[in-house]
Amino acid sequence: MLIPDSKIQEVRERVDMVALVQRHGVELKKSGRSYKGLCPFHGEKSPSFYVWADEKRFKCFGCSAGGDAISFVQRLLGKTFVDTVHDLAKELGIDIEAAVDPAARERSQVKEATDYAARFFQDQLWEPTVGRHAREYLRSRGLLERAGRRAARARAAGLR
Ligand SMILES: [Zn+2]
Repeated sequence: MLIPDSKIQEVRERVDMVALVQRHGVELKKSGRSYKGLCPFHGEKSPSFYVWADEKRFKCFGCSAGGDAISFVQRLLGKTFVDTVHDLAKELGIDIEAAVDPAARERSQVKEATDYAARFFQDQLWEPTVGRHAREYLRSRGLLERAGRRAARARAAGLR
């Protein structure tokens, strides 16, 4: 699923980079304008991993890993970009689903409506009196048996 750029931007802007890094097991100490700690991406004994709270970026001068909150989590946990953005958004209370392509939402609503209509007409067809004419018509065209099988399948699949 495509995540709108504005939401990705919102995640990047609202994340607390220092808290995020510490929550993932990296202890940070304030060092001038930045924070530093032991790099989680390579083994080291003296800290060369830096986090800038304002810019919300990290950089390791030992292994040259660097980036933003999304690439940090992605790299550390081996997750995809999309999964990482979703998880971070959830933590930050940013609603991605609501922003997702309104056309896609509309398509699923239309499908829901047509599914409902199909079920309605199927029910009508097997209604003893209401569906009698329709059944006779289908029988005359040799289609009734097929409609019956389809209705039975739908019932078996729990679609009714
Ligand atoms: Zn490193």
